[in-house]
Amino acid sequence: MPELPEVETTRRGVAPRVVGRRIAAVRVYDRRLRWPVPGGLARLLQGRTIERVDRRSKYLLFAIGDGTLLVHLGMTGSLRVFTTPPPRRPHDHADLVLDDGTVVRYHDPRRFGAILWVPDASAHPLLRHLGPEPFDAAFDADHLWRVTRGRRVAIKQALMDNHLVVGVGNIYANEALFRAGIRPTMAAGRLSKPRLARLVDAVRDVLTEAIAKGGSTLRDYVDSSGEPGYFQLDYHVYGREGDPCRVCGTSIRHVRQGQRASFYCPRCQR
Ligand SMILES: [Zn+2]
Repeated sequence: MPELPEVETTRRGVAPRVVGRRIAAVRVYDRRLRWPVPGGLARLLQGRTIERVDRRSKYLLFAIGDGTLLVHLGMTGSLRVFTTPPPRRPHDHADLVLDDGTVVRYHDPRRFGAILWVPDASAHPLLRHLGPEPFDAAFDADHLWRVTRGRRVAIKQALMDNHLVVGVGNIYANEALFRAGIRPTMAAGRLSKPRLARLVDAVRDVLTEAIAKGGSTLRDYVDSSGEPGYFQLDYHVYGREGDPCRVCGTSIRHVRQGQRASFYCPRCQR
């Protein structure tokens, strides 16, 4: 599933090719995504200029005139840019054709993604209740401390709650907790502010590293025939049940939390 680093890399790959360009045509081949692609999309977008490509959580936001084209990649979606588009393949569901002939193509085999027109992005139900971005100043130890006081929810589940902070998926939550030395099952409300401060740093570090890895794949988003890849960090705990901890040698353990797999070192993480 595309996580925040993949979505941010998509944004960085696509934005330089589309910002400032006018939309010449919109072709929707299959409207049946997670929600139907709006029927009048071509009429809404034709002739307008793409002013910016932003990201909020895992949503790509194309600022276009008085509204926003919201794109979510779902489980299997990808967005790529072609100067000369190849013939359509199965699961290519929509093309945005720009005034210089560039084509932005949405591909999504499982169709859990979304393409929506949103007049006011900050007030949209998908976006308005989201917590701060992990790289925003608003995401700090004070914030985490405030929103977790008195709560018995495990810190890993708190970290993956989009109301508290967005874009920390399962892999990154596992890895950040290892780096911060915090056991995933620890009650969020019992963590001290200094430990939460370490966790904030660790979240930013793992995401920064993943985005940096994505940088080397930026070319895959333009005129490439293959699918953009996912970024494999050198995981310390994720998927390493029974393997020795890279720091202390203790066997990594596995536990399920709210249907998600958690991995931790019983010695390094308390
Ligand atoms: Zn260890």
